[in-house]
Amino acid sequence: MRGKLVTGNWKMNGNLASNQALLQAMIPAISPISGAKSAVCVPFPYLAQVEQLLRGSGIAWGAQDLCQFDNGPYTGAVSATMLADFGCRYVIVGHSERRSVFGESDGVVALKFSQALRVGLIPILCVGETLDEREAGVTEAVIARQLDAVIGQSGVAALADAVIAYEPVWAIGTGKTATPGEAQAVHAFIRRRVAAGDEAIAAGLQILYGGSVRAGNAAQLFGAPDIDGGLIGGASLNADEFIAICRCAQPAA
Ligand code: PEP
Repeated sequence: MRGKLVTGNWKMNGNLASNQALLQAMIPAISPISGAKSAVCVPFPYLAQVEQLLRGSGIAWGAQDLCQFDNGPYTGAVSATMLADFGCRYVIVGHSERRSVFGESDGVVALKFSQALRVGLIPILCVGETLDEREAGVTEAVIARQLDAVIGQSGVAALADAVIAYEPVWAIGTGKTATPGEAQAVHAFIRRRVAAGDEAIAAGLQILYGGSVRAGNAAQLFGAPDIDGGLIGGASLNADEFIAICRCAQPAA
């Protein structure tokens, strides 16, 4: 897979009018960008609207979560099968807000990851440490535990069809970004951990960085050897910022 990918995570934001304005500004600017892929992960109710606006553009779309079970008696939940029905290419799995606010365990995240793969969606598996964990020196142990839960459930080969996003929790929505050096160190650790199971899959695995990426810091982050693009929260709601970040993912001419 490799190559660069920039994915927006709109979180629980937007409405019909603002989504339309945002995408109409993004489509003509992002579609011609070659050598880097882009996508937006949007709230469930807007998937139909986004599918209609983005179909045929160079921008893919996806969701921010899915149910760990397939269709059935799970009131309020949304299945992988349903996401596939709306043309989703990606689904975010295990975002730190799902883990901390909604109590998702590593085990549930692993089941969600396998549901995505079952229907051909590309899961974007989020991993990352809290500030306390970083300060306690257990960043790698936390990330290894989060990764191993998924590998234990689906096998390392499953990562051939997945993307990983390293998102230090202390950098999400805080304006504090990991330095390219700090992020690169963790990305390299993730790639080594996957390589221990399968070197070819590790070499092809896209590992995105997420956490207060902006137009002003994206180029430096994306220039690190193991950073294959970004998962962008706040800045993905601003067309100019998101377009500029996507341009930073283009290979140098
Ligand atoms: C995110 O929500 O995944 C994220 C990285 O948010 P932000 O870019 O706002 O820090």
